[in-house]
Amino acid sequence: MTQEIGKLFICATPIGNLEDITLRALRVLREVDLIAAEDTRRTRQLLTHFDIHTALISYHQHNELSRIPELIQRLKAGHDIAVVSDAGTPGISDPGQKLIQAAIEENLPVVPIPGPSAVVTALVAAGFDTDVFVFGGFIPRSGRRKREFMDKVRREHRTTVLYESPHRLLNSLKLCTDIMPERPMAICRELTKVHEEVVRGYPKALLDHFQATSPRGEFVLVLSAVEEGQGEMDVVNECDDRPIDEAVLDLLAQGYNKKTAIKMVAEERGIPKREVYAAVINIPAVRPGES
Ligand code: SAM
Repeated sequence: MTQEIGKLFICATPIGNLEDITLRALRVLREVDLIAAEDTRRTRQLLTHFDIHTALISYHQHNELSRIPELIQRLKAGHDIAVVSDAGTPGISDPGQKLIQAAIEENLPVVPIPGPSAVVTALVAAGFDTDVFVFGGFIPRSGRRKREFMDKVRREHRTTVLYESPHRLLNSLKLCTDIMPERPMAICRELTKVHEEVVRGYPKALLDHFQATSPRGEFVLVLSAVEEGQGEMDVVNECDDRPIDEAVLDLLAQGYNKKTAIKMVAEERGIPKREVYAAVINIPAVRPGES
């Protein structure tokens, strides 16, 4: 199949059930000169199942920098290449994206071969509003970045789809239980596989479920959209995004005096004290100058 320049086929493969491969994907995988695979062993199994004998080359996050120039050279030399990921659609939360971008930069033809992707499969299985939705990729592993990320999700007005690893699922569900206990969610596990499971409910119920059964397999979290007027914050702050006056009143209720409460809120949010004063000016108990 040598021609002037080759094509890069973005070839979706099943996320579990092998019957989900498309006829077009099978033809492309059979006809290309080379398949760049995230996991060559896994792709080899897929190819063997369908009696396909195309050559494989590894292309994953640990060799992408060296592999991309090599693959681009081959495309320029007229070879057709299919990029496939571990499972699903290459380019969605996997190394496929960088190769696709590199090919586009070199003005090489890129041809999508659509098929399964965990994000859309989970979205429709969850049953929430699909008119508008957000895909947030993988939830950050831990710490401040995770907390900040989930705080944004808490305020999101669109249905939100997130990937999560089984090792971190319970931690994420605990965080959701703390910061958005009334948010309906769905946990989609092992989609299209033998142990496929879609559990819907509030974070605490989902936490209880997966504490009892222990999370195994692959997971997608889908969070329902926040209703207009709910979850909205007057002040955007990643760690504490309640309205400023609420944060000040909360500290007063805890026994702090007014000056200290205002100072604490300003410091915590990294904003000038006068901004906090301005936000609480109409609350008689905390007029500037009073203590
Ligand atoms: N490109 C892939 C796609 O289109 O779905 C996603 C690649 S990403 C590296 C892998 C993540 O997708 C997993 O950690 C999991 O969150 C999700 N995933 C993949 N297959 C899944 C399945 N069968 N059931 C549930 N989640 C799945």
